[in-house]
Amino acid sequence: MTESTTIRWEQDRSGLVTLVLDDPHQSANTMNQAFRDSLAVITDRLEAEKDSVRGVIITSAKKTFFAGGDLRDLIRVTPDTAQQLFDGGLEIKRHLRRIETLGKPVVAAINGAALGGGFELALACHHRVALDAPGSKIGCPEVTLGLLPGGGGVVRTVRLLGIADALLKVLLQGTQYSPRRALDNGLVHEVAATHDELMAKARAFIDAHPESRQPWDEPGYRIPGGTPSNPKFAANLPAFPATLRKQTAGAPYPAPRGILAAAVEGAQVDFETAQVIEARYFVELAAGQTSKNMIQAFFFDLQAVNSGANRPKGVEPRQVRKVAVLGAGMMGAGIAYSCARAGIDVVLKEVSAEAAAKGKGYSEKLCAKAVAKGRTTQDKADALLARITPTADPADLAGCDAVIEAVFEDTALKHKVFQEVESVVAPDALLCSNTSTLPITTLAEGVERQSDFIGLHFFSPVDKMPLVEIIKGERTGDEALARAFDLVRQINKTPIVVNDSRGFFTSRVIGHFINEGVAMVGEGIEPASVEQAAAQAGYPAKVLSLMDELTLTLPRKIRAETRRAVEEAGGTWEEHPAEAVIDRMVDEFGRTGRSGGAGFYDYGPDGRRTRLWPGLREHFTRPGHRIPFEDMQERMLFSEALDTVRLLEEGVLTSVADANIGSIFGIGFPGWTGGVLQYINGYAGGLPGFVARARELADRYGARFTPPALLVEKAERGERFADA
Ligand code: NAD
Repeated sequence: MTESTTIRWEQDRSGLVTLVLDDPHQSANTMNQAFRDSLAVITDRLEAEKDSVRGVIITSAKKTFFAGGDLRDLIRVTPDTAQQLFDGGLEIKRHLRRIETLGKPVVAAINGAALGGGFELALACHHRVALDAPGSKIGCPEVTLGLLPGGGGVVRTVRLLGIADALLKVLLQGTQYSPRRALDNGLVHEVAATHDELMAKARAFIDAHPESRQPWDEPGYRIPGGTPSNPKFAANLPAFPATLRKQTAGAPYPAPRGILAAAVEGAQVDFETAQVIEARYFVELAAGQTSKNMIQAFFFDLQAVNSGANRPKGVEPRQVRKVAVLGAGMMGAGIAYSCARAGIDVVLKEVSAEAAAKGKGYSEKLCAKAVAKGRTTQDKADALLARITPTADPADLAGCDAVIEAVFEDTALKHKVFQEVESVVAPDALLCSNTSTLPITTLAEGVERQSDFIGLHFFSPVDKMPLVEIIKGERTGDEALARAFDLVRQINKTPIVVNDSRGFFTSRVIGHFINEGVAMVGEGIEPASVEQAAAQAGYPAKVLSLMDELTLTLPRKIRAETRRAVEEAGGTWEEHPAEAVIDRMVDEFGRTGRSGGAGFYDYGPDGRRTRLWPGLREHFTRPGHRIPFEDMQERMLFSEALDTVRLLEEGVLTSVADANIGSIFGIGFPGWTGGVLQYINGYAGGLPGFVARARELADRYGARFTPPALLVEKAERGERFADA
């Protein structure tokens, strides 16, 4: 290999070398084999021609600076190929080290996003200038993919910022900073407003520093804030595992632990040894199952979902300009805010002008908070609010090209409000309902243009929750589906698409998680252990507290309706053991959940949860009755996974990526699993292992754990859950 194919060498007469990252075969530069080879060639040349080189600027010809490791390669690493990854990693580290110890000033002119490997490349430069481009992000997000920065990112951030700041500001949360915030937090040295200024600042640094060294290569250098061998620092060390526990709640996320170990161990040894320590932890994480799960979900599946794998082809993309939001309660107010934030004009319609104004008040509160926290400017907040028009008059909805209905959950009322507005809005307006349980096909019967009617199921709180479940009714047309998809993307949310069915995907599946938790209380297991099992499995909300939030009357209402539908269709209703517990809680003890002031938990006068209700132990718990902790966790996880497979069988779900993303983003299925179907793929022993374990759970805890035919067949054929 004698030529660099992905890094261009441009040298001016003064001896200034600009290395332009420009992979000719990809839209972004990644750490692939071609880049590794090019880096070797370039490093050799820099050393050979050192005397004629005055300084080096590294920048990119792409929109982003450098995208980092190639995840397609990483997801394939196995324990057998781990050594290769280890060796390859050390090779890159050696090249970067040679560049930073060249004795000449090296500047990263960061012209776009520099995440992961991109930021690590910049860290090996003596000076970092970032272009303040909109949407440009800087940081080490590896932890969010179950990895650690293995290109020197741990070693250098620790030496740049000190262990505590490196861990808390960069490594453990994987925060992606805007260039300005990267500057405030010491990740870059300067920002530039324009591309010309970026290059000028890079050149100015080189002019002013003919010889440049990294701080850690200066004589007498010490890691900022001290190292674990310093007694004062050592006294604070125990705080880190506590931070970790807070971050992971005891769930099986190996990356934060690996990062902590690499940072602390690496701080006590020389730079080169620290690099080897980092490489060892990196490879261990990359070869493990969790990083594969997380890369699959948070990179590949998310990309498939957001890029429209499920959007009907051939329908021209369209943007919504003016949306009618009907109902300004909890959901309507949040939907109005999210639409206005994306630049869409919103007419917020309520039963009275006061109620509509109150709904807009929600946006006013969110805007004031965002301004106070410096997340937006007053001007931008004012512009957002000016886009929301509260009203009680249907005539104000004239010209709206989309309607999102969020009135009470009542079919007759929903029919009535659509009738009221259908002839007022634009003649081809998209008609959406935010129902969480009512069949879309039935709701569509209330409008003239049934093919334009579709379900848009938002999650609460709308401004924070990234998912929208799009529900296609029997008569929904492709045009409406494509437009609904575009609308969800327009407001920067992630759309999954499902076919109409009771509870759709998310509401139906989360019900199994809750039922399983409640059933365990009914069996006599300590309620605190049930909560602990959910937390340690990685669920963001404990199961009984979630039941209280949703209210215990809700599953009763859904059960009654579903039971009626099943029996009307000639089926038999299979009782779930959770039902008797919920009935007793409501009928015998009058405990309906948080909004009623009492549920599985007690609540203070301010509505705050105080403790698990002691009556649970008195009325349900069988002292000393235990089942294996692993069974408790897997009963929750399996109940959701098995029903997701049934939803695939029934054709409600049509894509694996939708199931994985919907489960994590919509209903809190633990992220370390990679989503509800990836959990099955990644289970010990693969699909056959999962089937065997499901049968074991069915024998112990009930037929509801019997694996569905689709799962058994896939296991027998040696397949896994993947989109074509
Ligand atoms: P909510 O009770 O907070 O708000 C409903 C609002 O609709 C009320 O403010 C009411 O005044 C208004 N309304 C009633 N009749 C109206 C009319 N004719 N015209 C205009 N406004 C009218 O309810 P919510 O929690 O916001 O739920 C709204 C819808 O969203 C329901 O269908 C619900 O199932 C669904 N949903 C709720 C959640 C959730 O977590 N709360 C999540 C997803 C979907």
